[in-house]
Amino acid sequence: MNAPTSVTVRVPAKVNLRLAVGPVRGDGYHGLVNVFHAVSLYDEVTVSPRSDLAPGQAVLSVDGERPDHVARVPLDDSNLAARAAALLARHVPHATGVHIHVHKAIPVAGGMAGGSADAAAALVACDALWEGDTPRERLLELAAELGSDVAFPLIGCTAVGTGRGEQLSPLPVQGTFHWVFALVDGGLSTTKVFAEYDRLRPDAPEPTLDDALVAALAAGDARRLGAALTNDLQPAALALRPELGDLLEAGRAAGALGALVSGSGPTCAFLAESADHARELAAALRASGTCADTVTAHGPVPGATVV
Ligand code: ATP
Repeated sequence: MNAPTSVTVRVPAKVNLRLAVGPVRGDGYHGLVNVFHAVSLYDEVTVSPRSDLAPGQAVLSVDGERPDHVARVPLDDSNLAARAAALLARHVPHATGVHIHVHKAIPVAGGMAGGSADAAAALVACDALWEGDTPRERLLELAAELGSDVAFPLIGCTAVGTGRGEQLSPLPVQGTFHWVFALVDGGLSTTKVFAEYDRLRPDAPEPTLDDALVAALAAGDARRLGAALTNDLQPAALALRPELGDLLEAGRAAGALGALVSGSGPTCAFLAESADHARELAAALRASGTCADTVTAHGPVPGATVV
């Protein structure tokens, strides 16, 4: 069979249903218990071979519906998708140079792990392009080398991450949950949010999983899930961006079953009762003037998939 001329992988964004942050560990990372939930908001990463580049070397292009977000994606070696291609190239025999095109729908620097999703997609796409047949377990290890949030978009659905967040165990979920994500202008640096967290919580306890959250997911109970959503980084994100408090309040006032800052923010996530309720909630949030835009999505959805 001939090698493919290009491979496109679709990869979902995530929302953290629980983000419990412990004290800083000896290696400088925070211990985390992180419940990841993949939602139907996708980036598409397309890779094609470039014979004029060294194996694993990449040139990038990015497009998408939100020019302000597209403009914030780096086009150099710091792009996580380029780093993923370079890493995988060291582990498969027939790597080439690549053009990586990212079609961006996941908000940039929004706490929805868009960069990590692109890295996961690039691993899967390059492995298919180079016919690496890398075992899934190995891809998960390489993903964890690239960053704490890169392994999850490979598996998608709903999973609890421990350690730095990269040791994943799938969680059983019944049914589908409906979400509204409220986008606000500007990003929030994950590093700065963690630094603020350390300042606010110098005595953070060891992070734990919450039985009520696990039970709500297994039962497909949106009301109980809404009540169980928590994010330890939220006070730090609100300290850096106080206006997010008004956004969360606007969502609660409009009937959201749960409202929280997504990951390190500033995107905020709102749980709805149904797809129709999500559309109503989104309209109410836009009308409140507390966000720049909204997107609706459902979860859980599968991880990075060749299309
Ligand atoms: P997380 O939730 O994992 O902290 P995030 O969703 O807040 O991440 P990203 O969209 O992943 O943030 O972007 C964080 C920064 O990473 C951006 O400001 C950008 O400079 C850089 N970056 C590197 N590669 C990418 C990529 N492929 N897409 C978007 N940003 C990228």
